[in-house]
Parts: sequence; structure tokens; C-alpha cells
Amino acid sequence: MREFIMKDAYSFHTSQEDLDDYYQKTLEAYFRIFERCGLSRVISILSDTGMMGGKKAHEFMYLSDGGEDTIVYCGNCDYKSNMEVAVSHIHKTEAEEQELKEVYTPGIQDIESLARFLNIDESQTMKAAVFFRKDNEKPVLVFIRGDLEVNELKLSKVLGTEAFPLTDHDIVDLAYGYIGAYNLNAEEKDIQVIYDQSLKGEKNLACGANKVDYHLQGLSVDRDLQINEFVDVAKVREGDSCVKCGSPLKISRGIEVGNIFQLGTTYTESMNMHYMDEHGKLQTPIMGCYGIGVGRLLACVIEDNHDEYGPIWPKAVAPWLIHICMLNTSDVGDLGYKIYNELKTEWDVILDDRGVQAGVQFADADLLGAPVRIILSKRNIAAGQVEIVSRDKKIKKLVPIEDVKKEVREVLAQVK
Ligand SMILES: [Zn+2]
Repeated sequence: MREFIMKDAYSFHTSQEDLDDYYQKTLEAYFRIFERCGLSRVISILSDTGMMGGKKAHEFMYLSDGGEDTIVYCGNCDYKSNMEVAVSHIHKTEAEEQELKEVYTPGIQDIESLARFLNIDESQTMKAAVFFRKDNEKPVLVFIRGDLEVNELKLSKVLGTEAFPLTDHDIVDLAYGYIGAYNLNAEEKDIQVIYDQSLKGEKNLACGANKVDYHLQGLSVDRDLQINEFVDVAKVREGDSCVKCGSPLKISRGIEVGNIFQLGTTYTESMNMHYMDEHGKLQTPIMGCYGIGVGRLLACVIEDNHDEYGPIWPKAVAPWLIHICMLNTSDVGDLGYKIYNELKTEWDVILDDRGVQAGVQFADADLLGAPVRIILSKRNIAAGQVEIVSRDKKIKKLVPIEDVKKEVREVLAQVK
């Protein structure tokens, strides 16, 4: 871990090199914060700068099945990406060139049925997906290998405007269910056609014949179609090959708990902001911007640190470190307040002196989640002892009353 020195953080950054260095330190500082909060599964992902603008940005993702984002990462190298912009290497199918022929496929309208009908793999088919552009509402036809799905965000990027699936089939005259790239007459129909790179060089594919109840078989992309450009609009799948190292990619859900942006001079220039440097020269400050989602972070801390009874707060974020349960208030009251007063000089302590049943006190203590609990019962006190339990229930011991502070300190040192 690198040092994080205040002097560096608060000095002016006048070069890109400076900013890169600071950015790197911030990335590391963020990981320290998440680690202290007890989050074990946070990864940083280079992300799209989006509406914020600027040069580069990272999202910090807590990996969790309940996450709203989908993350693609390599199990072998450091490749990781938001699903929105993830890329992968798609394996080519091995096929011999065949003669192009028309086959009668009555009622077969989707890839799954087509593959079953022709007894071929879905990767031996070509899929057509119809979208429309947000800017001029013109239809866009995307051809992609049959085993793949179109990533709408990638498509929107390629088009330079948002793309939506076309649901109203009356808008464009196409043989829905039988759309193919061969003999399509796209220009006549004023349709924009996009070819995904998964089709590049593929041979012997089955695809729609642009005629109801008919498909083509034996289509070779290079031989039968005139395609000027292939683009990447495919959704990455678990197990696709990493573009950096070839290892299988993994997919996980994640919650964005923080982000950092290198804004550069995007805002300072547009707002005409300057400062005077040590030589009396006007300079444009370089900006960064940094955020942690406090509410999300709290939820993630609980997600990562809990049992069936409630949260197990890591020390760094626990509202109280020590929770004292006085089980028989009238009998143990004095000792309870004495221990409470002694410990609160050093730690945050909460004392349950409500005089309610032990079961209620324990259940509430679990819900409040303080890392260390001290239990005062009439019986133990009679034996000169109190009980200390860690919230994760891994430590449980009876200690002499006079050693409470020392023992608490030890238990605190052992818990997360
Ligand atoms: Zn890799």
C-alpha cells in the first residue's frame, strides 16, 4: 500500500502526470475505506465517464447477487468491465462452405425452433433483431450470430443515439420471423443494417429467407453478403474468452458504492476558472470528483457482515463498540453503571437497563450489532464474574469482574 500524504492531496495539480498520480492514490484510499468498512468484495472498474464528462472514471463495485449492475471480469487477469461496455472474444464456428439453398420451415419463427428443426447448433444460425433510432425513429436491423444477444447500450453507442426494440411490426414491411441478410432490399425499405462482428467469416449459416415459412441454409457471410463494416454489439456471456488473456470470463452482479472521475479541465475551462501559481501566472485548475454512496455503502456493509439475527458491525463503522446487557436490573444495577462509566471513557458504549427479559435484550443487542457484548447476570456476579461475547458469537468467555476492561480490550482486538 502506498502512503497517502496530505501535502500531496492539497497541493495544486498542474500537470496530467500529477493528476494521474493523485488519481491512483485516491483509488487506493478508496480501497482502504471499503476494507475498513468490512467490505471484502469490492472491485474497481474503469467506466464510461457518461454525462459527467472528463477523461477517465472508475466505479467501485461491491459484488453481490442483489446488485443492480452487471459486471464482467476475468478469472485470470485484471480485465473487468461494466456489462454495458464489456467486450469478449467470441469463438468462431468451424464449418465447411456449402451451397446456398432455400428450405421450407413452416411456422418456424425463432432461432431456438430453427436450430431444432434443422438439427444444428444455434451458433450455426444468423439472428435478426429490429430496433429503431431515438433521433429519427428510423428502423435499424441488427444481424448477429444466433447464439448471441444484442447489447442495446453498445448498439446505442454505435448508432450515436438510443436504440429501442421495435415492437410495432406494422411500421416496417419485413417478413417477421423470417428476416435474413440475403436479398433484403434494405435500401429500398430505408432500413439501416448493422452486422455484428460475430458474423465475420462465418460459413454455412441458416437465416431467414425474407419470405414467410422459408429460411436459407448454407449462407457464407464473405461469399454471399457485401458487408462494409462489422461492429461489436454483442452481449458478453459467462465463459466467453477474455480479450486480454483468453481465459473464461465471469459475470457477477454488483452495487456501485463509489466512483471517482478525472474531470481534467472540462469544467474549469468552460467556467473560466483560474488560480495564480507561485510564479504569479494564471493557471486553469485540473479537477477530480469523488463520491461514496453512503446509504448504499451501509446496506453493503450489512450484506457482507450479518447473520440471521442482524448486522455484525465492523469496528470502524459500529455505532457502539460495546453493548452491556443488565439482566436483573435491580440486582446488578450498580455494577452495570460502574462498568458502563468505566468503559465509556475509552469506547462508545450502550447500556441496556430497561429491565426487560433476557431474550428481548439479546435479540435487540443482535439487531444493534455492537461487536462486543457484556452480560451481567445475578448468578455470574455472585461468582465474581461477567460474561463477554463477541457479536459474531465466536468468542464467549467468563472473566473476573475486575478484569473487564482488560478483557474487553482483548476481545476488541480480536474482532473485525
Ligand atoms: Zn483475462
